[in-house]
Amino acid sequence: MRSVYLNGAFVAENEASISIFDRGFMFADGIYEVTAVLQGKLVDFDLHTARLARSLREMSLELPLDAAQLLAIHRELIERNQLTEGLVYMQVTRGVEDRNFFYPPAGSPLTVVLYTQAKTVLDSPLAKRGMNIIGLPDLRWGRSDIKTTQLLYACMAKEQARAQGADDAWLVKDGWVTEGTSNNAFIITRDGAVVTRELSRALLPGTTRAALIELVKEHDLRFEERAYTLEEAANAAEAFITSSTSFIYPVVSIDGQLVADGKPGKLTQRLRQLYIDHALAVLV
Ligand code: PLP
Repeated sequence: MRSVYLNGAFVAENEASISIFDRGFMFADGIYEVTAVLQGKLVDFDLHTARLARSLREMSLELPLDAAQLLAIHRELIERNQLTEGLVYMQVTRGVEDRNFFYPPAGSPLTVVLYTQAKTVLDSPLAKRGMNIIGLPDLRWGRSDIKTTQLLYACMAKEQARAQGADDAWLVKDGWVTEGTSNNAFIITRDGAVVTRELSRALLPGTTRAALIELVKEHDLRFEERAYTLEEAANAAEAFITSSTSFIYPVVSIDGQLVADGKPGKLTQRLRQLYIDHALAVLV
């Protein structure tokens, strides 16, 4: 049985319990991070702590744990659960209080939960087969840049994709692709430019996205940060997604139309390998 972390203690997963008055449960008043684990170590942990700090700030949450303490908790959990490959999930909510829309006073205790999950990251079938994607309207709230636990529309959209025999959905707002339901969306144009949507309140600043953009620049590949339509994506030379637990998966069809020959793209595969090499080099 797994150990999980709950408010300062490591406990067995079946003994960890949270109040029904927790604001995470009542209002989705909470944020989270998911960090990949390879060889029992954390991938790009600095990027995750930086984004966590940003989410906390945007939500006026004051977490009394610094980056070193967070790293120690993550490491201890990995050790206790003997995790070699998978992820660590971390969630912070605005704590427990009788139903009240207003925030509790500053300094009130937050709820902090971490758990591990085993998952095959490096040898994933989707990395080889590629994903079939459908387009759906982006009906999420206006602050998709904050990594909140309010993921209902992502669940609805993934479910709709599955009902149509697809693997996932890309979300479209005002005619432009924002991102995937739980990943950032990239295309590669026929003249070799790697393209992804610029950051704004409309999409999550992905850690994998950020690391990959650095790699693209380091390797002197062309990079464009701009909006594109689903039609441009379907007619692109290659397409792919990025996220912490998939790294990079090729996209091989969009709304039933094959991307190029419908096989994972060459540059996409090279980028996946570059990202894996990077991930293995930055483990902590
Ligand atoms: N966009 C959304 C909506 C997500 O939920 C996620 C990850 O869960 C991402 C993008 C990718 O972010 P990261 O690369 O940090 O995992």
